[in-house]
Amino acid sequence: MSARAAAEPKPAPTLKLQVALQLLSQAGHPLPTDAPQGSLRWLQAVIDGLCDLSSRDVLTGLSNRRQFELAITREIDRVARAGEPALVLMVDIDHFKKVNDTHGHAAGDEVIKAVGQALQDCVRPMDTVARFGGEEFAIILPNCPPAFGQTVAERIRLKVQRRAITVAQGVDVGVTISIGGAFVPQWVRSSAPLWIERADQQLYRAKTEGRNRACLEQPTVSLVSAEEKGLLFGTSQFQDIE
Ligand code: GH3
Ligand code: MG
Ligand code: MG
Repeated sequence: MSARAAAEPKPAPTLKLQVALQLLSQAGHPLPTDAPQGSLRWLQAVIDGLCDLSSRDVLTGLSNRRQFELAITREIDRVARAGEPALVLMVDIDHFKKVNDTHGHAAGDEVIKAVGQALQDCVRPMDTVARFGGEEFAIILPNCPPAFGQTVAERIRLKVQRRAITVAQGVDVGVTISIGGAFVPQWVRSSAPLWIERADQQLYRAKTEGRNRACLEQPTVSLVSAEEKGLLFGTSQFQDIE
């Protein structure tokens, strides 16, 4: 390197924000108008906006698959620590191909959006409603006792059945859903794929038993004493033995 090149000041690095700002503007995400562009508060708002966008499904605005996987992993950790009951519901629109075939793909999209909204309307703010893929949704219900699980699944099913969804051309479309649910085993560390698989088996049962129904796996009652729970968290008598 020549002495002259070494002496030349390097240009200040610039952040390439244009694409991010375009994405946020397209999604109607507000940025603070009272913070100067490039300030820490403005940059934090850009980061928050991008995080929010990357966690949402574009069509329905619900949590996307990535966000669902984070939430279910967090829930498994919480259940293993606290032993609270938690439920996962898998939801699939019945005979949805027929909706697309009869009314067109755009109308199908409207139906997916409306069903997503109906699911969101039926649950508590602490619950996670996600679009799992296509016309399938998944719901995580933390701290959900078995009796409440059956009630909420039935409430969701009826809400969708009773809703007339108006698609383009003012046509009303009615759909039903099938729901499969499984409780996470208490005081055991499950895994997201195993828990989802059990809920999926119940969804398959709901489909084969005729659709438009909710099938929930019977939760197993675990008779674990306070002492045994203590052992799970490392207060074991063997802890001091090295
Ligand atoms: P079943 O009662 O057994 O669930 O019947 P189904 O017709 O719903 O069967 P299936 O789940 O196999 O079909 C799902 C269809 O959903 C197939 C696919 O073309 C359509 N689909 C998937 N994603 C989208 C989407 O984003 N928009 C629209 N309009 N259709 C979608
Ligand atoms: Mg499906
Ligand atoms: Mg379907």
